[in-house]
Amino acid sequence: MIHPKRYLITSALPYANGPLHIGHLSGAYLSADIYVRFLRLMDKDVVYICGSDENGAAITMRAKKEGISPQEIIDKYHYQFIEAFEKTGISFDIYHRTSSDLHKETAQEFFRDIYNKGIFEEKESEQYFDEKAHQFLADRYIKGTCPKCGYEEAYGDQCEKCGSSLSPLELINPVSTLTGDKPVLKKTKHWYLPLNKDEGWLREYIEEGVLNEKEHHDPNEWKNHVVGQCKSWLDGGLQPRAMTRDLDWGVDVPHEIEDSEGKKLYVWMDAPIGYISATKYWAEKTGNDWKPYWQDEETALIHFIGKDNIVFHCIIFPAILKAKGDYILPVNVPANQFMNLEGDKISTSKNWAVWVNEYIEDFPDNIDELRYNLTRNMPEHKDSEFTWKNFQETNNTELVNNLGNFVNRVIVLTNKYYKGVVPEFDQDSMFTGVWDQDFGGFHETEMLSLHDELQDMNAKLRKFDFRGALKILMDISAKGNQLLQFNEPWKLIKEDPEAVKAIMNFALQIVTAISVSIKPFLPATSDKLRKMLNLPLIEEKGELLELLDELALGELLLETDHKINEPVHLFSKIEDEVIQKQIDKLKSGSVKKEEKEEKTVKVNSEKKEAKHKEIKPNISFDDFSKMDLRTGTIIEAEKIKKTDKLLKLTLDLGDEKRTVASGIAEYFTPEEIIGKQIVLLANLEPRKIRGVVSQGMILMAEDSEGKLEFINPDTKFEDGSVVR
Ligand SMILES: [Zn+2]
Repeated sequence: MIHPKRYLITSALPYANGPLHIGHLSGAYLSADIYVRFLRLMDKDVVYICGSDENGAAITMRAKKEGISPQEIIDKYHYQFIEAFEKTGISFDIYHRTSSDLHKETAQEFFRDIYNKGIFEEKESEQYFDEKAHQFLADRYIKGTCPKCGYEEAYGDQCEKCGSSLSPLELINPVSTLTGDKPVLKKTKHWYLPLNKDEGWLREYIEEGVLNEKEHHDPNEWKNHVVGQCKSWLDGGLQPRAMTRDLDWGVDVPHEIEDSEGKKLYVWMDAPIGYISATKYWAEKTGNDWKPYWQDEETALIHFIGKDNIVFHCIIFPAILKAKGDYILPVNVPANQFMNLEGDKISTSKNWAVWVNEYIEDFPDNIDELRYNLTRNMPEHKDSEFTWKNFQETNNTELVNNLGNFVNRVIVLTNKYYKGVVPEFDQDSMFTGVWDQDFGGFHETEMLSLHDELQDMNAKLRKFDFRGALKILMDISAKGNQLLQFNEPWKLIKEDPEAVKAIMNFALQIVTAISVSIKPFLPATSDKLRKMLNLPLIEEKGELLELLDELALGELLLETDHKINEPVHLFSKIEDEVIQKQIDKLKSGSVKKEEKEEKTVKVNSEKKEAKHKEIKPNISFDDFSKMDLRTGTIIEAEKIKKTDKLLKLTLDLGDEKRTVASGIAEYFTPEEIIGKQIVLLANLEPRKIRGVVSQGMILMAEDSEGKLEFINPDTKFEDGSVVR
């Protein structure tokens, strides 16, 4: 599709069960954002869609883990995502969510229509069932050993180590992730999309670029690793894939369908349909028609994703769209590979990540600096790596020394020599070069054609080569620096003021060109440049297209006599301490560090006797959550006869009174503890001690001398409050 009429661009819907890290940002969001901003600068009709993916098993699992409801989980992350995207400048036209009614209706309509066409295959099959949890175990509810690579923590839908898509029945030694029990097989009915029947046209679509009867895309424009992954799926043979699950959280299978009770749509059926419902929502809000964006063959649909989602966007979603009928297919899916961090895979569970929200908190004024580093290291064709040292280096050498330095010199010198007014000069020397390295100074030779350079940048952006495009911009700035460095206007101003006018004018044209073309990459920097140049901010309404036209016609981008403003601050050096702090934070927050600390503790304990008792082996959250801890107040206390150690205490727990025998008589008199608020383990099995039935245990701290003290909350709580 060479000249699409309009573009619909999507970024992978982030799954609302955990925060965003920089790997997500560089994978599916920054890439799409740069592309979309570029299209807007070229005056294209483009809508940029995203939203939170809020259905499926992992949401309920996360909710159980955090001890809150699924609704609270999705709300928490949905609003966290919105903040992270807003603050990093990801410029969605709409950010929706798949828990909305509009989405549920849209997804159900898809299911209903495909069902009514008789495309689904109904199959009763044996599925793993957890008898303790009374639940079928699909996807993330079950794990075991991957049959392909031997990884022991593979999930029922996918192995995160080798990326293979799995079904629970393929797992070796499966266990329920809910209870840790070995599951049993039980019969259940599901609806399958017969992907095996789609193999033929999918192969044509992937390998030859056939979109529909009329339209083609160029398969050479697809990334090799994307095509490679798709081909290996097709070569392996496609199997019918269940589009429903036995779950309690998600989009219901339409109720009029027989046996639909308790059945939800498979999350990879409903999530991509989220792009469609988000487009509908956008259209509703802006008074547009959503249909052309999904149904007109002259629309270019492009999905930006990470490599773990390739099969869902290149095979399964196209098959769903085709089954529904009257929908276009993506013309490209420029998936990125993964970004690693400081030598390791980014891992949420090991807390080995740079979290976007934390970065924003620590570096509120350095958003473009992050965008810059993530773009110049974007994992476009192979995995890449983020390191804090590299972040510091690229900031200090490329942003501060190159771009920042060039712009600052131009603005400062223009203000100094010409009171901020763009100098007039001999038009003939414009754009035909200003300096020549061999000649060692000002010379008539072609060295920098802004027009050609920016055309090259465009070509790279159109091919999703964001690293290459950004490099061209930074090279333009580097050449601007050389222009000043070699001609030394600060010396030349006395001997040849006319030449300095030409040099400074050209330098100002370069800054102006950068102020427009840098917008997709570093939007806040573009704004600062425009303010310095005293030009209107870039609104992404065709400004780059206009600029290219002006350059092609040999027009000035910044008129002589235009008055610019004083310089404003662009970038500053990042010091070693700041970087070290981040490295320390990363290491101390991760499991790795815990292991290291464990070793250190052990080494220390060999040298001298441990002061306190050794920490007991880890327990699971489930173990912890079995304990019911409550606040209470001691309202009566008396010694238990014939003992030296025990006090009989009466506690007020708000809704009830409790009697507890406590071995604290050596340390406290009854009088001094009446009225104290304490924390009680309230569901400890009652025990009879010296004739007193003790209903629970008061939490105490014991110091290294063996002295006891109450865990006594600083704040006065309502008695009976839950402690967790
Ligand atoms: Zn595997």
